[in-house]
Amino acid sequence: MTVNELVRKAAKKLETPFLLIDLDIVEENYRKLANAIPDCRIFYAVKANSHPRIIERLRDLGSSFDVASVGEINKLLSLNVTPDRMIFANPIKREKDIAYAYDIGLNLFAADSPMELEKIAENAPGSQVVIRVAVENRHSDWPLSRKFGADPMTAVQLIEQAARLRLKPVGVSFHVGSQNYDPKSWWNAIESVARVFYWAEKLHGINLNVLDIGGGIPVKHVKPIPTVDEIGNIVEQAINEYLGGVKDLQIFAEPGRSMVGDSAILVTRVLLRCQRGSEEWVYIDAGVFHGLMETIENFRYEIVVEGKEDEQKMPFVLAGPTCDSVDKVYDDAMLPYNITLDDIVYFINAGAYTVEYATNFNGIPGPKVYFVQDLASTI
Ligand SMILES: *Cc1c(COP(=O)(O)O)cnc(C)c1O
Repeated sequence: MTVNELVRKAAKKLETPFLLIDLDIVEENYRKLANAIPDCRIFYAVKANSHPRIIERLRDLGSSFDVASVGEINKLLSLNVTPDRMIFANPIKREKDIAYAYDIGLNLFAADSPMELEKIAENAPGSQVVIRVAVENRHSDWPLSRKFGADPMTAVQLIEQAARLRLKPVGVSFHVGSQNYDPKSWWNAIESVARVFYWAEKLHGINLNVLDIGGGIPVKHVKPIPTVDEIGNIVEQAINEYLGGVKDLQIFAEPGRSMVGDSAILVTRVLLRCQRGSEEWVYIDAGVFHGLMETIENFRYEIVVEGKEDEQKMPFVLAGPTCDSVDKVYDDAMLPYNITLDDIVYFINAGAYTVEYATNFNGIPGPKVYFVQDLASTI
């Protein structure tokens, strides 16, 4: 979403910080992915942004959902999403949550370890499971493969174990790392997990037919990104190359960031500018505790300062409003040299992993959320 007239008007009128979301962009993102990988079943990863209006829009488009907890499951149930449209994809679940999911009729789980399979077999007997395989996360801004995933040969053993526990091992999942810039990552991942299909059949006679390609599709920030069509093409080609022989192959995807990232702008305001030693500091009313958490790993947003787009830029330390030194956004933000009190600072394409992470730390509430669809007529 760009800084258009509506965004500027909203910034003048509404109290900051706030996130302004355009639901039509969410819809467009869903349709683009559905077109790029035609037979793909899309499970929106709810953790990227679980606002009810986003869930409802995706629900009405026919989306399914990737959930990580009972909290997310209950939110979906309250919005009339049925359990047959959910995958419990977090490989680290509470036993109570597994049992709860099973009781309401959710029967698709992910696992990447022997103990997790035992927990699922005990609390959700007979359920379908996908085994998460660790794949190369090199070209992503937010790698996930150290914390999650089994190597391919261990995955084969987990599939055999699942069958022994009378679960239904249906396939494998992977995640190339969030905000992955290289379409080749999906190719390599599919090449790698195809071995699991092969050996599960060869060694144990188990036919898998679900390939879950996870998330990782990037959002435009400060570096060029591949299009969803480019990624879709590579996925289809890799499937033809490595999984062409699999009968009735079903493709799942679990996009989070790419469904919502570019649908919103975070609008903040300068609270203070000052000099500390040789550094110039700018403090704004939202930092890592109030929507900009991903910047702790130096995740880069495009930043625009209202009315000062064409001014000369210089480096500032950009920080949030709380009394914690972790609450620092960037050491080297390039901002207009004359940025000052009350200037509006926009973070472009900040719809994913922002308000979802916001806390009430220091008694400072997280950003409010507004929708283009409502403001268009009232502002
Ligand atoms: C977070 C997550 C996703 C979404 O990843 P994005 O990079 O935001 O698309 C998908 N699957 C699982 C299991 C996740 O934990």
